[in-house]
Amino acid sequence: MTHTGQRDVVVVGGGIIGLAIAWRAVSAGLSVTVVDPDPGRGSTWAAAGMLAPVAEAQFGEESLAALNLAAVRAWPGFAAALEAAAGQPVHFRADGTLLVAGDPSDRAATDRVLAFHQAIGLAAERLGARACRESEPLLAPGISGGVDLPDDHQVDNRSTVGALLAACETGGVLFVSDEVTRVDIRDDRATGVELSDGTRVDAGAVVVAAGSRSGALGGLPEAVRPPVRPVRGVTVRLQAGPGIPRLRRTVRALVHGRTCYLVPRHDGGLVLGATMEERGFDLSIPLGGLADLFEDARRVVPALDEYSVVETTSGLRPGSPDNGPIVGLTEVVGLVMATGHYRNGMLLAPLTADEVVGLLGSGSGSSDPSPSPFEAFRPDRFSPVVTGWLGTDS
Ligand SMILES: Cc1cc2nc3c(=O)[nH]c(=O)nc-3n(C[C@H](O)[C@H](O)[C@H](O)COP(=O)(O)OP(=O)(O)OC[C@H]3O[C@@H](n4cnc5c(N)ncnc54)[C@H](O)[C@@H]3O)c2cc1C
Repeated sequence: MTHTGQRDVVVVGGGIIGLAIAWRAVSAGLSVTVVDPDPGRGSTWAAAGMLAPVAEAQFGEESLAALNLAAVRAWPGFAAALEAAAGQPVHFRADGTLLVAGDPSDRAATDRVLAFHQAIGLAAERLGARACRESEPLLAPGISGGVDLPDDHQVDNRSTVGALLAACETGGVLFVSDEVTRVDIRDDRATGVELSDGTRVDAGAVVVAAGSRSGALGGLPEAVRPPVRPVRGVTVRLQAGPGIPRLRRTVRALVHGRTCYLVPRHDGGLVLGATMEERGFDLSIPLGGLADLFEDARRVVPALDEYSVVETTSGLRPGSPDNGPIVGLTEVVGLVMATGHYRNGMLLAPLTADEVVGLLGSGSGSSDPSPSPFEAFRPDRFSPVVTGWLGTDS
């Protein structure tokens, strides 16, 4: 049995990536089905919502930093368009991030971060301890200084999911609440997907956006199976009650070499994160990682002691071998990858959606003649096979 007849596109996975693609695709006039047993509740639900091209960039990741910068520039327009389509806010904030050093050895590390940012032409300014505390009065007196990162912003990840679901429904995206068991491929062409209840969705194109489970989908030939692995992270949601002082903007901190971040929300909420562990698909929350997180955060912002713990959430980041996303066509006609976004899925969602919709529309990428920022992040970089929409080397 098939669902709803032939569709232009079926998207496997309704996280931030799949939902953003579905919304942009339906807005471009395509008929779209999203299959997901629980849309928005994967890694996307756990995320802090930092849009951090600078703070997340590492030495040796210059092309990723360039992609991230293009991505953060796309966010204001994406947020405005999404809010207009959904009729609800996403709480995008462009007020930058303060990176602070807990002690003098952390100061050396934040100085290296500063040097990297300046070397690749990104805005970043070194601040002394007093300037940091003037900028953010809740910081502990003992911090040893920091860096102002004006290009690192934030959005409420859960508001964004809510808005995307609303915009998709309004636009006519069909949602199927089930799991894809296999991608159907006939004569080197993707023809749809099979679901766990035995039904099918027939489609002209299949977009794989199943986050950390993208590599586990049935039916994918080994040559195109994305090498994605789960990297567990835990965030804690806190709430400031009436009269409790609130952070003005996002603070990232290095404390004895460990990283933590505190992301304030519009309603007095605060997201504290995050741990990084490779434990397969295990979503449990070990006490040790949480204890370190609390200790580091309280050292930087002592007023956190007055906040209430509302929720602890773990999620599985879709990691790739080079930390970059895996976005583009494969050697199977009509099979498109949109996965591997690792620590930057929120940040990269708007750009990924536009890229994928460009690929779906033209069969060869965006109509924009300038090189795509995803050129260094194509699926075929992990396999020797050169791919093209028509299964040729075009
Ligand atoms: C603790 C933590 C903090 C983070 N903070 C940030 C941040 O501040 N900024 C940022 O940019 N990124 C952040 N990230 C990373 C970000 O969350 C991810 O990169 C992003 O959510 C990936 O989106 P996705 O849609 O690919 O995956 P997911 O959100 O995991 O969605 C995948 C979806 O696919 C569905 N699915 C899986 N298998 C199947 C199947 N067989 N059939 C149908 N559906 C299926 C799942 O149900 C799920 O809904 C963080 C991640 C974690 C864990």
